[in-house]
Amino acid sequence: MDPQRPTAEVIVISDGRIIDIGDAQLAKAYPTAVHHDIGGAMLIPAFIDAHCHLSIVALQPLWGDCSATRTIDELQQLLEQQARRKPQAEWIRADSWDELVTGLMFDRHDLDAVTGDQPAIVMHSTYHQCVLNSAGLENLGIGREAARRDPLIVADDRGDPTGLVLERSAGRAHSASMRSYTDPDRWAEHIERRATHLLSLGITAVHDAACDPATEAVYATMARAGQLPISVLAMPHPDPFLTNAFGDRLDGAPTGSGDETLRVGPLKFFADGGAAPAFDVHLGGERLVMGYRHPDLLSELKLAVERGFRVGVHAMGNQGVADTVEAFRQASRVRRDDDHRFRIEHVGMASPALAREAVEVGAVGVVQPGFVEHVGRSAGEFQPDDASWLPFATLADAGLVLAGSSDDPCGPVNPLECARFGEHRRSEGIVFGADQSVSTDDWLTAYTAGSAFAGGQEHERGSLTVGKVADLVVLGEQGDGPRELSVLETWARGRLVHVADDN
Ligand SMILES: [Zn+2]
Repeated sequence: MDPQRPTAEVIVISDGRIIDIGDAQLAKAYPTAVHHDIGGAMLIPAFIDAHCHLSIVALQPLWGDCSATRTIDELQQLLEQQARRKPQAEWIRADSWDELVTGLMFDRHDLDAVTGDQPAIVMHSTYHQCVLNSAGLENLGIGREAARRDPLIVADDRGDPTGLVLERSAGRAHSASMRSYTDPDRWAEHIERRATHLLSLGITAVHDAACDPATEAVYATMARAGQLPISVLAMPHPDPFLTNAFGDRLDGAPTGSGDETLRVGPLKFFADGGAAPAFDVHLGGERLVMGYRHPDLLSELKLAVERGFRVGVHAMGNQGVADTVEAFRQASRVRRDDDHRFRIEHVGMASPALAREAVEVGAVGVVQPGFVEHVGRSAGEFQPDDASWLPFATLADAGLVLAGSSDDPCGPVNPLECARFGEHRRSEGIVFGADQSVSTDDWLTAYTAGSAFAGGQEHERGSLTVGKVADLVVLGEQGDGPRELSVLETWARGRLVHVADDN
């Protein structure tokens, strides 16, 4: 990760840490050590997924999966099966609806026909919108009056909610329906299983980008019991989901507390929508302003920074990014932490000028190269004149530190697959913003040193340096064209935890 340093040939690990690094002669200085020859493969620090939702994606096996559901008939069958499979759950829940892939569109009446008066939710793959049945709407108190006040509660011609709700209301529905599935013991088992899968991809540390109080509690229980196979930086988030008011969480453990297994991360805020990102762009010369901006971002963010927390802000549209940069500028006047690093989560769209402003306020970009796949598919004709989608090269050229991440389950999770998307910028046969390509080698840096920096973890992980945690990945390389890398081995805290089948 450091081009200034000579290539090392031997790395010595003891008690889970790197204790020495050098050339082939170094091995002689440790005659009693166990030797492990990686046969000329490449050794790098293990990947840190700087924005994912491990605690949520772990539960997906409990929910109906409508990622391939194409018709209302199929959806109704899936919900009936789900109700039989989880008879104790208050909410019937299905996930991974994506109409851009499947063409599936429906409303509350389609759900009511099979769910009766039990609340039901079909969550979108973005987690920023969902469809509720009538009992679900009633459970959350969403009726005609709410739809009249909030344009993000979609209503029919008569003013009745159709069941489709976006952003804050989707967040409330997510939180309410989650509670049917978060028995702490079972939840911990599911997190452990998913974390073990991440090890096979070379990921030994994650930043869980939205941990409500129940999520923080389940992680704490797992860490105490030695049940966390990977390191977690838990970014606190209020309950309900997709809101900014932290309330008494500001009195709780601050960013940085904990240890290398489980640490409190920056607080997670939202500047704009995910289903309704905030844009202010020109399209074919015409100005276009649209999307949802959270009105309480600045006031809530300042409170948190004043109290000594670090922060990360979801910003997808260029207006969302601009609002975030402005909030950072104002919050930096009240910060207590000299070494603050303001995280922008996603940075979905920006111009070169906005990227430079982000650098000036000391921001870090926590980006998702794997988003090329679905943004490439959904953005279509929406190509502004004055800002770029997933502007990774623009951000890097401006000098912004990039951290690599997946936003799992909202994008592909495998870091090497994501790096390829970030390099080739191809989505279903089209090339999406070729000028924003960033090389696989740079993504390896983003997923290690960059992510460690975004998490304030650069003293413990993210590079091969004496004293750091021995979390390592051995990569094999095929062919001699564009890099085709694969994970051969994963080491966590000095222990070999994964070996590829064909290795
Ligand atoms: Zn996310």
